[in-house]
Amino acid sequence: MEIGIIGAGVAGLAMAWEALKQGHRPSVFEQAPFLGGQASTFLVGNQPLERGYHHLFLSDTDILELVDEIGLGDKMKWFESSVGVLHQGRLYDFVTPLDLLKFTPVSLPGRIRLGLATLYLQRIKNWQSLEKYRAEEWVRKFVGGSAYAGFWGPLLRGKFGAYYDQVGMPWLWGKIQTRFASRKGLGSEKLGYPIGSFGEIFEELSLQIRERGGEVHVGVGVEKIVLDGDRASGFLFRQDHEMPERSFDAIITTTPSYILPRLVPSMPDHYVQQLSNVDYLSAVLLILELDRPLSDIYWLNVADVDVPFVGIIEHTNLVSPELYGGRHVVYIANYLSRDSYLYGLDQDDLLDEYAPYLQMVNKSFDRSWIQKVHHHKVDAAQPVIPANFSDKILPHRTPVRDLYLANTTQIYPEDRGTNYSVRLGRKVIRMVLDDKGFPTTGELPKPPIPSSFTVSGGV
Ligand SMILES: Cc1cc2nc3c(=O)[nH]c(=O)nc-3n(C[C@H](O)[C@H](O)[C@H](O)COP(=O)(O)OP(=O)(O)OC[C@H]3O[C@@H](n4cnc5c(N)ncnc54)[C@H](O)[C@@H]3O)c2cc1C
Repeated sequence: MEIGIIGAGVAGLAMAWEALKQGHRPSVFEQAPFLGGQASTFLVGNQPLERGYHHLFLSDTDILELVDEIGLGDKMKWFESSVGVLHQGRLYDFVTPLDLLKFTPVSLPGRIRLGLATLYLQRIKNWQSLEKYRAEEWVRKFVGGSAYAGFWGPLLRGKFGAYYDQVGMPWLWGKIQTRFASRKGLGSEKLGYPIGSFGEIFEELSLQIRERGGEVHVGVGVEKIVLDGDRASGFLFRQDHEMPERSFDAIITTTPSYILPRLVPSMPDHYVQQLSNVDYLSAVLLILELDRPLSDIYWLNVADVDVPFVGIIEHTNLVSPELYGGRHVVYIANYLSRDSYLYGLDQDDLLDEYAPYLQMVNKSFDRSWIQKVHHHKVDAAQPVIPANFSDKILPHRTPVRDLYLANTTQIYPEDRGTNYSVRLGRKVIRMVLDDKGFPTTGELPKPPIPSSFTVSGGV
């Protein structure tokens, strides 16, 4: 069977791999001139680096299995991460239960409740019981005003901006589940990074897809899905100022939901309405190459609404700066609406906006430490998943026969992540084959059950 896949992010590539394993022929079309979508890379010196910080958790078994299958398992290295919180100009370590007890922005009873609530969220598997709550509502009600004001409130505002009070509780549950699953005992979490970058995984995957008879086209955007009666029969794609057509037995699109009505203008109104039920935020990243470390923390949550960004991820506090010719790589991260002031700023203005706050992290910070700056915007990076989303989640089968939707709004109850895109890709290929009456082989792996107690790492 010929399967057309729109998008060569991790989901599209994982789909192609699964289709080949099941004995079918995938063709992937990607509009960007590079592979990897949200997890794509650019060069820092000679070394590829993700446009947005990326790591894996120990529980990310689907992508780890895929990396093993393509022979890059030995590239995955595991490091102890360090987590901190910046609150009103002060840095707090935020790894162990003792760190939580020392976190004075929250009252002592609040800290105890925060610890107990974290433990509770880590233990419960029945996330459906949380679904009716918004995260903001649940924290205020069950953890209290102090823990909300001193910790979760600013983090929710930082991560979701104006949508901070709309996010469903499963988002917070999912964050705690994944971060706990990457910890052993009372120690810090272990995070994985492929030495060589996520980009190397995508390049190798694409090479092996081609070697096995599949196709991967980059810089070739799909313009329109062609209908034949009630079914999708192919698509038109843009190549060298022309718009050729290809026919397929089934088509899967991994694009953000709002792209689909552009590809199929005749979609029914009620479905177009459903597609717009989930809003997205863009990730805006300012990446600094420094001649020395900014701090000794890998993952710094900014729990302070007066600071104009939500996190500082010092990549070279996870992996060695030697990879980047001795440069220390620091991401300053934000999740923003496309109409926000900060989204509209260029690299220099954004740096002017952020730089004064870097002295809160390191009093000696000076702009002369900055050797190079990079600025990336990743649109549709974070879907805002509301409460009671089980009722609203869109099925993979669209109203058009043989056309399937598989994107990050359908990853639930977990938050989006490369692991879940791999799982989604495998699942949807099997669904397509099932619909067409083809058998499938092999089982989809079950997610592991996390255990152990430490403090939640944040967003
Ligand atoms: C800042 C940031 C940090 C992150 N950190 C982590 C992390 O630490 N660990 C982790 O596991 N995950 C992380 N993620 C999430 C992870 O990157 C995503 O969940 C995952 O990459 C999504 O993959 P996808 O293939 O589902 O979607 P996408 O990567 O969005 O792929 C969709 C693709 O479709 C293409 N496309 C769109 N329209 C068309 C068209 N008309 N024709 C052809 N192609 C089209 C797009 O160009 C894109 O490449 C992070 C994301 C961001 C933004």
